[in-house]
Amino acid sequence: MIDPWGSSIIDYEKLTEQFGIKEFKDVVSEIPDASKLMTRGIIFGQRDYKRITDALNKKEDFATMTGMMPSGKMHIGHKMVVDQLKWYQKKGADLYLSIADMEAYAARGISKEKSREIALNEYIVNYIALGLDITQDNVHLYLQSENDDVKDLAYTIGRKVTFSQMRSIYGFDNSTNISHIYTPLLQVADILHPQLEKYGGPKPVIVPVGPDQDPHIRLTRDLATKFNEELGFIEPSATFHRFMTGLTGDKMSSSKPKSAIYLTDSIKDATKKVKSAKTGGRESLKEQKELGGQPDKCSIYELLVYHLIDDDKQLEEIRNKCLSGETLCGTCKQCASELLEDMFENLESKREEAQKIAESLL
Ligand code: SF4
Repeated sequence: MIDPWGSSIIDYEKLTEQFGIKEFKDVVSEIPDASKLMTRGIIFGQRDYKRITDALNKKEDFATMTGMMPSGKMHIGHKMVVDQLKWYQKKGADLYLSIADMEAYAARGISKEKSREIALNEYIVNYIALGLDITQDNVHLYLQSENDDVKDLAYTIGRKVTFSQMRSIYGFDNSTNISHIYTPLLQVADILHPQLEKYGGPKPVIVPVGPDQDPHIRLTRDLATKFNEELGFIEPSATFHRFMTGLTGDKMSSSKPKSAIYLTDSIKDATKKVKSAKTGGRESLKEQKELGGQPDKCSIYELLVYHLIDDDKQLEEIRNKCLSGETLCGTCKQCASELLEDMFENLESKREEAQKIAESLL
């Protein structure tokens, strides 16, 4: 069972085998101007992406939906979702951005006011500073608790889910509070409501998520089918991206400051973290020169692949020089920290304006 509120997993192959997630690489060639996250295999899995490639190629209406649970600081791994939203925005998708304040309250005890504050100052500001245009007419940003369409739909779809189904998907037991048991229905409603008549009716919807969110995707697709006749819903599509390895070697997590580069870290702190990150380097210089480094086990290389280097050739060169032992980790860390510095300077310069925009939206 995958636990969307937990922090473990990540055997991507097992995941695709056990839960029927299809490989993303099989559809990449059908995507016009596929993004680096797509071509580099960072997005590794998909459900029903054909609906989206069809919409992209025929220039038909589609929507992209994401939710944010405002429970902590945004780290550089979260930037992947923003990058995907930006890509879909460029492709003409309607965007739906849900702030899951009801879920944050039920699952973590975070008040609605606190959720709003975190969403505004941490998430929305960074989304805008990273280049997402939230002011466009076809961007729907909302708090779950203030969206009656979502709340009504959650109630409606609850009619076709039983407690035993919820328990087998999420592992709920006798100690789980009822509000928490209800929150997956809100997420399902978040994903399905763009297909209500009020929002233009049935259409393909793509939900880019980490694999820990697949239980929600499966439940949503099941309920879309069950409500196809009554509400016309078609099954939404999903993509699954890899998680970033933390700088300490395990999963990057907002609750582990040493593992994560927060988007609001000072440039000094961010680059310091890069310099002390765990790499795929060998025990000694001699060994590294003889055996080469291990880029696939290296958090610095991951940073370059996910966020810092656009040019595939440059990336390949770095990889080859690492494998051959020609480049040593110190040089590589220096290169990554300079690139990160540029990114953070850019972010910092945009954040003040982003704050003003964010406050006018929520
Ligand atoms: Fe990582 Fe660079 Fe060291 Fe290779 S040389 S292990 S890519 S830091």
